[in-house]
Amino acid sequence: MQQTPSVGRVVHYVSHGTPVRPDGTQEFPRACRAAIVTEVDPADPSRVGLAVLNPTGQFFHPLAAGGCVLDEAPEGARDGGSWHWPERA
Ligand SMILES: [Zn+2]
Repeated sequence: MQQTPSVGRVVHYVSHGTPVRPDGTQEFPRACRAAIVTEVDPADPSRVGLAVLNPTGQFFHPLAAGGCVLDEAPEGARDGGSWHWPERA
């Protein structure tokens, strides 16, 4: 059953990674980052505002700037800039 996000829940944000080089490699690939839900779009609860905690800094994705959209694709196939529930360890 799909959970509904709510303010204060911890989710994963998918970082964009650095641009892909001509040879197909990336200096930093996409990665799951810890994020806290700061807002939930009442019209579309799959869209949330996030406070993203990177290892070396934090940044914010408010709904006013578009927020972040849920991406339920398998690990490795999710879009950068999306969020998902943390994988089971
Ligand atoms: Zn993840």
